[in-house]
Amino acid sequence: MSETTETIFSKIIRREIPADIIYEDDLALAFRDIHPQAPVHILLIPKKPIPQLADAESQDHALLGHLLLTAKRIAEDAGLKNGYRVVINSGDDGGQTVYHLHLHILGGRQLHWPPG
Ligand code: 5GP
Repeated sequence: MSETTETIFSKIIRREIPADIIYEDDLALAFRDIHPQAPVHILLIPKKPIPQLADAESQDHALLGHLLLTAKRIAEDAGLKNGYRVVINSGDDGGQTVYHLHLHILGGRQLHWPPG
């Protein structure tokens, strides 16, 4: 794994900076993105500070499955009956800016493909 660095998301987990938290369990936390790209834009993060998807290991198998199923539940709870998108940006070319693994849950408008 890459060197684990402190990020803004670690501070959100510890409630050291404010966030609009909408879901929490033992393994994960979800909160609204500060710069939403759609009417619903939620970030779902593991509490374990995996920097990026490229750093996930086989021991993270269950955690990654938990995150996807939790994303589905959050999308349902947000009322995204007509569909939604789940995105993971990994690394610089992937457009990742915060190096604490996170899933973007986007919905509430027609999303386009391919992304930029
Ligand atoms: P990335 O570009 O790494 O895939 O996504 C990082 C996301 O985190 C961006 O959508 C950005 O708007 C969001 N973000 C960055 N800093 C904060 C923050 O302090 N609070 C919240 N709620 N979102 C943040």
